[in-house]
Amino acid sequence: MSGANAIGLDGARVYLDWNASAPLRPEAREAMLAALDVVGNASSVHAEGRRARAIVETAREAVAALVGAKPSDVVFTSGATEANNWIMSAGWDVIALGDIEHDSVRAPARACGAEIIGLTVGEHGDVGFSAIESIGKRDGALLALQLANNETGVIQAVGEAAALARRFGVGVHSDAVQAPGRTPVDFRSLGVDTMSLSAHKMGGPKGIGALVIRDGLELPARLLGGGQERRRRAGTENVAAIAGFGAAAKAAARDLTDVEAVRALRDRLECEVLSLSPEAIVVGRGMPRLANTSCIALPGRPAETLVINLDLAGIAVSAGAACSSGKVGASTVLTAMGLPEEVARAAIRVSIGPATREEDITRFCAAWRTMAGERHEKKLVA
Ligand code: PMP
Repeated sequence: MSGANAIGLDGARVYLDWNASAPLRPEAREAMLAALDVVGNASSVHAEGRRARAIVETAREAVAALVGAKPSDVVFTSGATEANNWIMSAGWDVIALGDIEHDSVRAPARACGAEIIGLTVGEHGDVGFSAIESIGKRDGALLALQLANNETGVIQAVGEAAALARRFGVGVHSDAVQAPGRTPVDFRSLGVDTMSLSAHKMGGPKGIGALVIRDGLELPARLLGGGQERRRRAGTENVAAIAGFGAAAKAAARDLTDVEAVRALRDRLECEVLSLSPEAIVVGRGMPRLANTSCIALPGRPAETLVINLDLAGIAVSAGAACSSGKVGASTVLTAMGLPEEVARAAIRVSIGPATREEDITRFCAAWRTMAGERHEKKLVA
């Protein structure tokens, strides 16, 4: 791996797009490579099968421990998109959600035939969930409330919403993809019914995730076929990916001790950006936020121009949620927050992790200085 460090980051580049996908952790790679050589099917009773089963169950324990759930609550899926689709299409009559939810929550909610109740989103990215009381009068009501937003990092009051929902008999699903390792997550004390997770946001492989389901909640099986995942999702387990997920989960549990160092780097970046360009807006600043995420807009400067200029300077960031399609438009999240279009079109997301270094932030700020300077010069010429 010439020019790349232990987590595959190219030394010549600065990777600040951890919310799109975090670099694969060495522990995860190692666990996956070892699991690839295990020949058995995890459902077979012979020694080879039992070895594969042991890998799957060890990983399930690590994932459960990371989020304060029981191993039997964890059902492996192909990722959080599948987990979100599963719960959204589980036969609800009414689903309440805000427009800042990820597409993998909103799209299946809209497609499943349930009545959709749109929740208000405040200008700081906080979702109002008082509608719970009125939908609680209906059978089959679900509230979908993400734990932390992928674009702004704003953290929602999921525990409070779930307590209210329980009083009114409303189910609660939380898309927790961006949270583990970045803020404490405790499935049991949050009191939600289901929670979705994705391995690649915590340094595991892409294409594996989980739906965490509380005891006693009956959901239609995701896939029919064999009896895997206690008949909830059929199909031979992807043992290597699950092994990588388990190893990443174990490591992510330790990341919480680095959160303040990550926050200090993120805060330094924001302070320098604001001093270089006082007209810049840091979205969600002052709200409870993930320590690793910064959503910054330079009004009037399209996000794609910033992203391309930064890429040319060797720095990877995202324009809004462009991680899903490569397309860049006004950010739906910022639009839902009621921010003006010139801000919603201008927002870039910078997201970092425990491997981000001071010099990465220095390089970002140097590139920003150039971009902010260009803007200033253009203004003078005009
Ligand atoms: N929810 C959120 C908040 C996300 O950020 C993502 C990934 N962009 C997903 C769900 C989908 O996860 P996956 O990539 O595992 O399908």
